[in-house]
Amino acid sequence: MERNTRFVNVKTIHRTYRFELRPAQDQKVLLDKHFGCVRFVYNHFLNERKVQYQVNKKSDNYYAQAKTLTELKKQEETVWLKEVNSQTLQFALRSLDTAYLNFFRGNSKFPRFKSRKRKNSFTVPQHTKLEDGKIQVPKFKEGIKCIVHREVKGEVGKMTFSKTPAGRYFVSILTEEQYQPKEKTGAVCGVDLGLKDFAITSDGIKFKNNRYTKKYERDLAKAQKHLSRKQNGSNTFERQKRKVAKIHEKISNTRQDVLHKVSHQLVSDYDIIALEDLNVKGMMSNRKLSKHIADASWGTFVRFLEYKADWNDKQVIKINRFYPSSKTCNVCGWINQNLNLSVREWTCKNGHVLDRDLNAAKNILKEGLKIISSGTGDYTGGDSNKTSFEKHKFVKPEAHLSLANG
Ligand SMILES: [Zn+2]
Repeated sequence: MERNTRFVNVKTIHRTYRFELRPAQDQKVLLDKHFGCVRFVYNHFLNERKVQYQVNKKSDNYYAQAKTLTELKKQEETVWLKEVNSQTLQFALRSLDTAYLNFFRGNSKFPRFKSRKRKNSFTVPQHTKLEDGKIQVPKFKEGIKCIVHREVKGEVGKMTFSKTPAGRYFVSILTEEQYQPKEKTGAVCGVDLGLKDFAITSDGIKFKNNRYTKKYERDLAKAQKHLSRKQNGSNTFERQKRKVAKIHEKISNTRQDVLHKVSHQLVSDYDIIALEDLNVKGMMSNRKLSKHIADASWGTFVRFLEYKADWNDKQVIKINRFYPSSKTCNVCGWINQNLNLSVREWTCKNGHVLDRDLNAAKNILKEGLKIISSGTGDYTGGDSNKTSFEKHKFVKPEAHLSLANG
């Protein structure tokens, strides 16, 4: 009986898995052809639309362009387009169409031409499979060897292939899954994101700031120094450039694992998670701090937290970054206007002894619950819900300084 009621809330979610590929030499060639053809198609038809618009003040839509694409494949000078998956090319046209629509709706900038340096990716929208550690997609008869480091749940859908600057191949697999949301715990928490610790909850649970960047930093600095001595464009330059890119990729992958683990745990343990709406972009403009902030990856973390909360019917509530969470005593509400930034522990006017970060986390929780009860919360974190005041690129002045001292 109880078992049955547990499955009432099952819902459909989409998950993306990213795995590294180990393509054979001939498969690398074919993958590269796909990257090239997709880029060609995208740029060719973007150009076509631009020219058409200049002449007629309107341009072909997806269906008209798909027809032209079929014609293009019959012409001798572009017959090589037939060597790659036709659905992949159509998908590129669709992306172009979407980019146009987004532009006209004011959601994004005018579509740009794809360059080999910036963008190497293509999508296979249909007829994809993952079997025995191999990716099966049209045109790749043998299947591409894939390092499946986590179990893939649900139904496999479209796949996007990419090549990193270091020359590694990856696949992103989109799945549709019948998901059983985690059970409610009845627990709520405030989370203070910091640099001393990555995060601390109002329960006093600390998540360490992973300093893997520090470990790789020396490697990176050394590799970059070597790169600067090489002649731009030479073979050794290109090789060294790939080495630098490889270290960057390493750092980013390790970091993501940590962010996934912390966000997973918070969503498992709490029903409501309140945190400060920090403006990472604003902080990144401060060059000295940017490395540390990138390291802590707040923006990505909040994004992970939000979609996991969404899957599990839990709430993430963001509070205004100008709220003085560190300066306010969470017991009596007294505000310490002279709180020195290096102070980790302080005593309020009424004698309450406060740990700086824990106190902030407790205040964040209080403020979060207040927002929820007043019904003015921004649960999704979307920019559309924010007031123009909040859109300003300000950072809580305190955040700046505490980072500088951290
Ligand atoms: Zn107090």
